[in-house]
Amino acid sequence: MDPHLLIENHSLVNLAMHYKICRKCSRVRNLGPYSSSYQCDTCGSNEQYPNSFFDLNLLLMIDLMQDSYITATSLVPASKDEPIPAEQARLASVVVYFCTVKELMLHRFLSHLLDQFPLPVSFLEHWDKHYFTYSQRREKLLPALLGVNWEKLLTTLTAPNHDFPAMSAFLKKATDARDNLLHEGDHFDIDPNHARGCLENLFPLMEFYALLHNKYVHERRMDAIRRMAQSPAS
Ligand SMILES: [Zn+2]
Repeated sequence: MDPHLLIENHSLVNLAMHYKICRKCSRVRNLGPYSSSYQCDTCGSNEQYPNSFFDLNLLLMIDLMQDSYITATSLVPASKDEPIPAEQARLASVVVYFCTVKELMLHRFLSHLLDQFPLPVSFLEHWDKHYFTYSQRREKLLPALLGVNWEKLLTTLTAPNHDFPAMSAFLKKATDARDNLLHEGDHFDIDPNHARGCLENLFPLMEFYALLHNKYVHERRMDAIRRMAQSPAS
């Protein structure tokens, strides 16, 4: 097991906060634990206390997810054959929080991307009401904006040590478990391995959205910065 999953002072939130975003060009980098300043390798901006790429609500969800997992794994059954309801509830919570994390990440990406286009404020304020569900956003809005679908992105974006198609297959499995739980009220017996998989898949998920952001948001932002630099002073 990844030792990070159970060690509080190596919490997943701390690892998530290693992803910083340049205020000027929006480039995202994982700066590791030494991230109190950010010299952007693309636009040259030098920042003290750079912003975290993942916002507070996302970080809270990640913390709740890990906290539920740590609690579930610390409970001791009264007897070997007796299930612990509290353990099942905590393992189910891990899956629910994980699904919320992956949905928030897609929402944040689309929101950052739409900000790069000259769209009416009324649309920017309400796009998420027009595309209300995660599946509408991923299957309709995302390919309409990028010109490529989710499946294609999983193979065109690559990172060492991460298997994005496998991550996506896990997202589907977690979503099915969450939907059965919340909409049908059954399958409360979440396998501890599945709950652990939620924590483990956070790593490729964060890396995937950092790459996606750099390719489609940061590059657009850089284009705008270059155009402004080339335009004659008025
Ligand atoms: Zn920059």
